[in-house]
Order: sequence, then C-alpha cells, then structure tokens
Amino acid sequence: MKRRIFIKKTLKGASIAILSPSLLTACDKETAPIDKSVIVIGAGIAGLAAAKKLKEKGFTVTVLEAQDKVGGRLRTNRSLGVAFDEGASWIHGISGNPITDLAQQAGMTATLSDDANYAAYDLGGIEISDTVFTNTENELYDILDTLATHGNANKSFETVFFEQYPQYANSRLWRFFLSTYVTFDLGDLDQVSSLYYGEGEEYGGVEKIATNGYDTIPQYLAAGLDVQLNQRVSAVDYSGSKVRVTHNGAVTEADYVIVTAPLGVLKHNSIQFAPALPAAKQTAIQKVGMNCVNKFLLTWDTAFWDDAFFLIYTPETKDKFNYFVNVKKLNPSTNALMTFAYADYARQTESMSDAQVISDIMAHLRDMYGSSIPEPTHLQRTKWNTNENAYGAYSYFAVGTEPRHFDDLAAEVDNKLFFAGEHTEPDYFSTAHGAYLSGIREADKIIDLQ
Ligand SMILES: Cc1cc2nc3c(=O)[nH]c(=O)nc-3n(C[C@H](O)[C@H](O)[C@H](O)COP(=O)(O)OP(=O)(O)OC[C@H]3O[C@@H](n4cnc5c(N)ncnc54)[C@H](O)[C@@H]3O)c2cc1C
Repeated sequence: MKRRIFIKKTLKGASIAILSPSLLTACDKETAPIDKSVIVIGAGIAGLAAAKKLKEKGFTVTVLEAQDKVGGRLRTNRSLGVAFDEGASWIHGISGNPITDLAQQAGMTATLSDDANYAAYDLGGIEISDTVFTNTENELYDILDTLATHGNANKSFETVFFEQYPQYANSRLWRFFLSTYVTFDLGDLDQVSSLYYGEGEEYGGVEKIATNGYDTIPQYLAAGLDVQLNQRVSAVDYSGSKVRVTHNGAVTEADYVIVTAPLGVLKHNSIQFAPALPAAKQTAIQKVGMNCVNKFLLTWDTAFWDDAFFLIYTPETKDKFNYFVNVKKLNPSTNALMTFAYADYARQTESMSDAQVISDIMAHLRDMYGSSIPEPTHLQRTKWNTNENAYGAYSYFAVGTEPRHFDDLAAEVDNKLFFAGEHTEPDYFSTAHGAYLSGIREADKIIDLQ
C-alpha cells in the first residue's frame, strides 16, 4: 500500500542524517572544460543526474537513450488529459529525500498520500472495519520486525511466513496485506528473500504522490544536456584506452562510460561487453531480483466510488487489482481510478487483452459498488515485464541475493566503465531517489579520477 512502509517501521524511527546531494551540488558552477569525454547509456534519472553533474564539472558528456524521450521509468502518459505516471508515482519520505528538492526545482507538484483515508471491502462488497484493518496492519508490522530471525538463505519469505503463521494461509485480508505491503515493494513472495526482505533504508517524513507527472523531473535534468534519442546501445568495448560504444550500428568513443541500463536489460544481455564483465558483476546480475508491477488507469464520465484516497478490495486471487488510487483526489476534475497488478499476476496481465483487463477490474468494482456502475470510458496500462527498455519494474532481494551483490552491481571496471541505476544503490534500491543518488555517486567517482 505504501511502498517500503514496513522498512520504515522496522527502523523504529531511527533518523538517517544524510545531506541531500542536490544541496551538496547547489554551489557547483560550470567549470572550465576538462579534456575528457563521457558517454552515459540511458536517460533515466540516474543517467541524467550523472550527466548533469559531469557537464557542470566541465566534461564533454553525451547521453545515448534507446527511447524517443527521456525519463525511463519516470514516464507520464497525458493522452487522456490526466497525468498517468506509468512508473514512479510516490516520493517515499520527503525529509532529506533528494527528490523533494528536485521536484520543487522541476515544478513537479505532489500531494500528501493520505493513507488513513481509505475504504476497504471484502467479497460481496462487505465493508472491512477500521479496527479489523488496522489491527491486521499492526500485526503485520510486528511480524516483519521479527520474521527474518526465522529466515534462511534458501527459503523464501512465503515459505517462512506460512511456516510461522499457517493460520493466515486462507485469509483474504492477509493476502491483501502481503500483496500490497510486501509483494508491491519487493516481488513474488515465493522468490523474496526470507533473510533480507527488510534491507534498505528509508527517508522520514510523509509520503507524497505526484499530481502533474513525475516526468517533469527528468525533463528538468535533461535541459541543456546532449541527449541523443532513439540510440539503442548494443555493445560496449572497454579493451582499449578509450571505451567504444556501438549504437544503431555507429561507434562512438569516450574516456569513460556510465551504464545505467536497468537490471532487467542487463539480465537479458541486451548489451554485449568486451571483455566480458567481471564474474562478480555477472553473478550479481543473476542473483538480484527484478520484479514486475503493472499499473492501470481507468476513466469514467462520473465518479461512483467512495470519496476516499484509496479503495481496497480483498479478492481470492493474490496480487490482482486489489488496491485503487482515487485519482480524483489528485486532480478533482478527473473521474479516474488507478489500480495495480503485482508479481506473477502482473506478468500474466501482459498477455491479456484490454477488454479482459477491463472486465476483471470491473468485476471487482461491481462487487464493491453494485452491478449498475457504468463501464469505463478509457483504459491505459503498462507492460513493464515485456518492455525491452526495462524488462521489469525494480530490483529486490530475492532468495540468493546478498547485500554485497548490490555493491558488485555498482563496482566500476578498470576505471573506465561505471554503473549506475536504482539496482546499484545498496541502501535505496528500487526507488527514484536511489537511482538519482547512484548517478551522482558515479559522476563523483569520475570527477575524483581527475
Ligand atoms: C511501476 C513502477 C512503479 C514505481 N513506483 C515508484 C515510486 O512510487 N516511487 C519511487 O521512488 N520509485 C518508484 N519506482 C522505481 C523508479 O521508477 C526507478 O527506480 C527509477 O526510475 C529508475 O531510474 P534509472 O535511471 O535507474 O532507470 P531507468 O529510468 O529505467 O533509466 C534507464 C534508461 O536506459 C534506457 N535504456 C535501456 N536499454 C538501453 C540501451 N540498450 N541503450 C540505450 N538506452 C537504454 C531506458 O530506455 C531508460 O531510459 C517505480 C517503478 C515502476 C516501474
């Protein structure tokens, strides 16, 4: 429901004193040119953050982006007149979070993600009381505090959870909580690590949700940069003194290359490296998990649902359209709901027709609000698992992932080849701020080499 909320709870209020990197760089000025060139592969927030910082330091920077626009997993579809964020929507904890400052600079508006304002329904449209909902939520937090003590390197979260709490195996409400609080944040329960599901750090402060589109941030970062769109990188040769990057059949050389292609793209071997990447990095690419979350926006002429921020439903099928954001709360003139599919069910939706998706979502809404509710006017949807620019949504600790694997993903090779992206950030992986921090980190490494 609130991504990574349980991690925040398990930190028990521990405050993390981190100076926002955007503040750290606030005094930076464009300096005299440095006779060194950098190619950044990928114009997501990680690549753009790195490129901007290096350009400000005087490097010659070229960003090669496979798609026809910048932003990567920060992408907003406005074709229905409402900003539908297909990737990130939330700023997870506004205190000290570099996205908070960036959003302000970029003109991204965001509103409080009002988690206490929900309406929850079980099958048959039966309301779930606040007491039952809150008690279950609190029990889940307590369980998450201790479950790892029963964890095992070879066992999944699902196995260990149901070994400890077999009584919840057939509970729809528990299925909802595990789905929206664990699977949404991490991945398929039968693949999430029972040891390391709580790894990672979290900013304090409230959660906010973007209202005019998260893509305002990459657009802001990209201003003034040399970003070459529709340039798909297929090979990186770092055997010589310069790194040679093949894109759309052409070769461009640079002193340094930063690879920010998503973990899913690295898993697919879409980019050939010569020499082959070090064994530790190849192992990490295999071991770190890449999950799938898909998002669905439906619009209507009039709203028929509760005047609540979130609508909750507890179907039999796990990870299936069980959580709705009332987009009217973000944009009052819009009659729209945004819903989600996670993990294996999310992957299944990618081969379903629009009509099938609408029918399945409407079955849930009819159960909640009655059979006379109108059909939606439009549907927008994502297919992150088969998207060749991502092959998934974000990284997580799978069975077999160890903390050092995130360091291995971040490790530079021969002081020529650098790696950024959300999957390279050991503390803040899977988030927009983690991706941003990783870009700054790799830019700093190159600056420090001068
Ligand atoms: C559904 C979903 C919901 C999310 N929700 C949140 C949220 O609410 N809050 C939050 O903080 N985070 C959220 N995230 C995570 C966040 O969006 C990502 O962590 C972040 O945007 C990743 O940025 P990045 O720069 O690492 O990668 P990307 O944004 O994926 O950038 C990589 C770029 O590389 C390009 N590329 C790929 N292959 C090649 C190639 N061969 N040649 C050239 N270019 C290539 C891609 O097109 C892309 O532009 C969500 C993500 C998804 C998918």
